[in-house]
Amino acid sequence: MRILIVEDDPAIAAGVSAALRQGGHAVDHVSDGGTADTALRDTPYDLLVLDLGLPGLDGSEVLHRLRRRGTSLPVLVLTARDDLRERVRVLDLGADDYLVKPFALAEFEARVRALLRRYTTQGAPELAIGRLRLDLPGHRAWVDETPLELTAREFGLLEALAARPDRVTSRSQLIEALCSWDEELTDNGLDIAIYRLRRKLAESGTQVRTIRGLGYLLEEVPAGSAPADEPAGHQR
Ligand code: CA
Repeated sequence: MRILIVEDDPAIAAGVSAALRQGGHAVDHVSDGGTADTALRDTPYDLLVLDLGLPGLDGSEVLHRLRRRGTSLPVLVLTARDDLRERVRVLDLGADDYLVKPFALAEFEARVRALLRRYTTQGAPELAIGRLRLDLPGHRAWVDETPLELTAREFGLLEALAARPDRVTSRSQLIEALCSWDEELTDNGLDIAIYRLRRKLAESGTQVRTIRGLGYLLEEVPAGSAPADEPAGHQR
């Protein structure tokens, strides 16, 4: 999942960024409200972690503008103030959850998992496609009861495809889902990741099908047919 962290306290930003990257997420960090507002318009995120007290544009205004654009992006607010009026105000502005500083990283990670679960699998702890099961927030996958050994990149790819069942995901959408600003994924790198994921899914009853000129589709292998084993050609 791709996550934007908006936080001007360097220590908190470093802590939450490291925790999320360790969880296999692509993380972008900005430290002021104006840059956050621009990033939210330009980049498709799966979650926003938003500090309220920010230089420049206030966090509340960032959230207000985001919701006014009609987006349902899940938002976890970090606030320094713990009083009833503040909590009500934050939720009324459109936050999905909030944490009062200082907080334990374990609780932060649990709230992120809960929010991502709610938005990616409609609250179900797992997503199933044929015999393939995915625990998206926990970054685990199984074929029947056998765990699938995937790298962070392979899991990210599978996650990006699985989050859009029966819909084609383009190469640029995959790259945006997999990479933060300071990372790079070349066309060749994406091809290699797709090739490796296909090999690992060979016995899963699901396949990554190339839709020429459009992108990729994760689907169940129709009964009686062999999985498509075509090379991952460039699709643009
Ligand atoms: Ca702050």
